[in-house]
Amino acid sequence: MKQYAFIIKNGFLVDPANDRKGIYDIAVDQDGFIAEIGKTITANALEIIDAEGLIVAPGIIDCHMHASSAYGGPLAHRMLAKAGVVTAVDLGGPIDDTLSIAHDYGCGLNMAFLQTVKPGETIRNTNPQRDEIEKLLDNTLNAGGIGFKVLGGHFPLTPEGTETVFTTAHEHGAYMAFHAGTLATGSNLDGLKEAAELASGKRLHLAHINSYCRGNILPAEEEAEEALRILEQNPNIQSESYLARINGLSGRCTGGKPESTGTQAALAIRGYEQSTQGMRDAIKDGWCQVNAPIGGTIIQLDAQSGLEFWEERHQLKQSVAVSFAINPPATRIRLASAKGKNGAFIINAISTDGGGIPRNDQVEKGLALVRAEVFNIQEYIHKVSTAPAQMLGLSNKGHLAEGADADISILCLNTLQPKMTLGKGRIIMQDGVIHGHGTTVLTTDKGQQQLRAKGFNKIQTTDLSEKPFLRTLSD
Ligand SMILES: [Zn+2]
Repeated sequence: MKQYAFIIKNGFLVDPANDRKGIYDIAVDQDGFIAEIGKTITANALEIIDAEGLIVAPGIIDCHMHASSAYGGPLAHRMLAKAGVVTAVDLGGPIDDTLSIAHDYGCGLNMAFLQTVKPGETIRNTNPQRDEIEKLLDNTLNAGGIGFKVLGGHFPLTPEGTETVFTTAHEHGAYMAFHAGTLATGSNLDGLKEAAELASGKRLHLAHINSYCRGNILPAEEEAEEALRILEQNPNIQSESYLARINGLSGRCTGGKPESTGTQAALAIRGYEQSTQGMRDAIKDGWCQVNAPIGGTIIQLDAQSGLEFWEERHQLKQSVAVSFAINPPATRIRLASAKGKNGAFIINAISTDGGGIPRNDQVEKGLALVRAEVFNIQEYIHKVSTAPAQMLGLSNKGHLAEGADADISILCLNTLQPKMTLGKGRIIMQDGVIHGHGTTVLTTDKGQQQLRAKGFNKIQTTDLSEKPFLRTLSD
C-alpha cells in the first residue's frame, strides 16, 4: 500500500481554479505533489495533519515583495514565511544581492527574482539605449532572474528609456514590472496613464495600483475610479494592489536630500522640506516612520528611537527603510475588490509590497475583508494565489488539482492568521515556527547553470513564453 508524505484531514478546502469548496482530505506524495483529494482518504501517511475548522488553500503567492539587503535581507524571508506566504517575487533586486541572501538565508519559499533597472547601478544613465538593455537582460536571465523592474517612482528614467526597457523585455518574453513614473511624470495617476501609453499593448506588471491613488491630483476616490477605468481598457497590463496603510521607501539622503523621489514627494505632502533636514523633522514628528531590525523581524520604531537609528545609518551612509502612513482606507478596499464588466477583478492580485517592509498582511487584512464580506473566501484565495500564479505563468501553482505542486497555506479565519504552510510538500512554517530552509528559485532554462554554480539545488524552471502572463496578448 502506498504511503503519502502528508494527509491534511477535515479542512475546509478552497480551490477556486478547480471550483472546489468544502470539507475534504488532501494527500501529498513524497515527491512534493498533490496526490489525492477526497471526502475521506484512508491511505497511510508519514504525517496526518488535522485541519478541522481551518481553511486549506493553494499556497499564498506574494507577487510583489522585497528581500534585498536594503529591505531586511534575511529577515524578509522569515517575515514572509511567518506571514503564510509560500511563493514570492522580489520586485526590487539587484539580483546578485537578492539571490545571495536567498541562498544563505532562505526559509523554504519559492522565489522569482527581477533585476532593477537603475541609473548608476545597473545602467549608466536615465536614458538607456537598446543595446545596453539587451545586454542587461541577457545577464539577468543567465543569472537566474526572470525579467526587469523599473522603479520609476523612485529612480525614474526618461519616457523613451522606459519604453525601450518595456520593448526589450516584451520581445524576449521576459517579465516586466513597473513602478509607474518617469522623468516626465511621477508616482501618481499621471504616471499610471503614461505607463499604459508606454506599454501600448506590450505585457506589463504594473505595481501597487493603490499607490497612484493617494489624492495627489484628484480626490483619492476619483483617482481610484480613473485607475480602474484605464486598467480595464488595457488588458495587456496585469496589476496588484496592497492593503496596508503604510508605504515603504528608502530613507537614505545623499547630496542633501532623500535619494528617492517617492520619499521627497511624501515629505512634500505634509509640507516638509525635501532635504536631509526635512527628513529629520518628519521623523521627529512621526510622519516618517523608520523601519529597523529588532528581535528577528523588522518593526516601525517610535519617533525618538527612529531618529537615532536614522542618524546612525545616515552618518555611516548606509541604507535605511522608512514608511509614511499614506494609503487611504477607502481606495485600498475599492481597488482590491473592484470588478469589471466581465465580472472579473480589474486588479489581478492582492500583494503586500512587503517582505522586509513590515506589512506582510495578505492573510491578516485579506481575511479581515472576507469577514467584512468585501469578497468571499474563493475570491480571496483567487486574489492571493490563483491570479498571481497566472500572472507569473506558474501552471503548477495557485490551485490544488492532483499533480499540482503541493504548495498549501492553512489559514484560520477566526484569528486571521496562517496556521501552517507547505512548499512542494515540505513544511515551511507551523504555528509561527519556521521549519523551511533554502530557496527554490523559479527561473527560466537560461538561469539554471549559473544558479547551480552558485550552490542552489532547488530550481524550478518555467518557460515564460508558453505561460498565461505572455498569452494574454494573443487572447
Ligand atoms: Zn515594491
